Amino acid sequence: STQIQLAARPIGWPTPADFQTAHVTYDAPKPGEVRVRNTFVSVDPYMRGRMNDVRSYTPPFALGETITGGAVGRVVASASDDLPVGTVVLHQHGWSDLVQADASTFRAIPEIPGVPLSLNLHILGMTGLTAYVGLTAIAHLKPGDTVFVSGAAGAVGTAVGQIAKLLGAGRVIGSAGTPEKVALLTEKYGYDAAFDYKSGDVRTLLAEAAPEGIDVFFDNVGGDHLQAALDVFNDGGRAALCGAISSYNTTERPAGPDNMSTMITRGLTMQGFTLAGFLHLVPEFQEKMTAWFAAGSIAYDETIVDGIDHAVDAFLSMMRGANTGKMLVRI
Ligand code: NDP
Repeated sequence: STQIQLAARPIGWPTPADFQTAHVTYDAPKPGEVRVRNTFVSVDPYMRGRMNDVRSYTPPFALGETITGGAVGRVVASASDDLPVGTVVLHQHGWSDLVQADASTFRAIPEIPGVPLSLNLHILGMTGLTAYVGLTAIAHLKPGDTVFVSGAAGAVGTAVGQIAKLLGAGRVIGSAGTPEKVALLTEKYGYDAAFDYKSGDVRTLLAEAAPEGIDVFFDNVGGDHLQAALDVFNDGGRAALCGAISSYNTTERPAGPDNMSTMITRGLTMQGFTLAGFLHLVPEFQEKMTAWFAAGSIAYDETIVDGIDHAVDAFLSMMRGANTGKMLVRI
C-alpha cells in the first residue's frame, strides 16, 4: 500500500516537503479485519487545520502517520462476515490506495446503478450535509430569503445554492474566483447573480449584486467576504459561518471586519458550526437529498486528480482554487 503522511507541520502554505510517502505491506487479514482498495480519496480544506498542532474540533494529524480523511473503496480481502469481498465501503482511513483494518472502521454503503461512488464523498455525503445543516439548522432559511454564498463554486458552495433554491429561497448570489466559475454558478447551479471576487473590491461587488440586501449569508471564506456581507445584511439577517478558507494558509492573524456594529443595529445572528453537533440531521438530509437527486434536481462537478502519489498536489491545488465542485483523488 502507498500512503501519504504528514512529515512536518507546515507554516503558511504547505509544501511537498511537509509530506512523505510510506510503503506498507499487509499480512493476510486477521479475524475481524478487511482489506479495502480505495477508488476515491477526499482532500478537504479542514485538513489544513489538522496539520497545525493547535486545539480544534478535530485533533491534529500525528507526524509520521497516514493522513486520515474520507475515502470510498471496495473490500478485496475479508476475514469478517460483516463485510464480504466486493462490499463498497466508506471510511476515514484517508490518503492511501489500499488499507487494512478492523471491519468496524468501515461502513458498507449501497451501490446504486447510475450513481457514481464518489458522490458519497460530496453531494450525497459530507459536503451536501454541511450545506443542508448550515441553511436549515444554523441560518434558519425562510422561503423568499435572499441568500449570499461565498466560495460558491466549491463542493459545499455548489450544494448550498441548489439546496437554498429547493427550500424556497428567493434571490441567491454567489462569489467565486474565476470568470468560468462565475458563469457556471448562474448557468448550472441556479444562482441568480454571481461575481468574481478577484475582479474588484468584494464590498463593492456584493453591494452591486445585492441591491435589496441579503437575509442569509453562508460563509465559506471569512475575511473580506464576511465584512462585505455585514454591510448589506437586512434587519434580522442570519449568517452560517461554515469556513474561513481565506485565512487557512496565512501566517498573520486575519483582520476582523470593521463593521461588526451592524450586528447590533440590524439585529443579526451569526453562528459557526461543525457537523459533529448535527449528525441527528443525517436521516432528514438523506431523505431529502435522495429525493432531489432522483428527481434530477441536483447538479454537481468533480475535479479529479489521478493517483495517490498526487494527493498532496490535489490538496494544494484545491486550496488554491483549481477545483470546480469537489476535488477528489482517483485511485
Ligand atoms: P471547496 O471545494 O470550496 O474548495 C476550496 C475553494 O476555496 C477553492 O476552490 C477556492 O475557490 C476557494 N478559496 C481558496 N482561497 C480563497 C480565498 N482566499 N478567498 C475566497 N475563496 C478562496 O472546499 P469545500 O467545499 O470542501 O469547503 C468549503 C468551505 O467549507 C471551507 O471553508 C471548509 O473549511 C468549510 N467546511 C466546513 C464544514 C463544517 O462542518 N463547518 C464541513 C465542510 C467544509 P475560488 O476559485 O472560488 O477561490
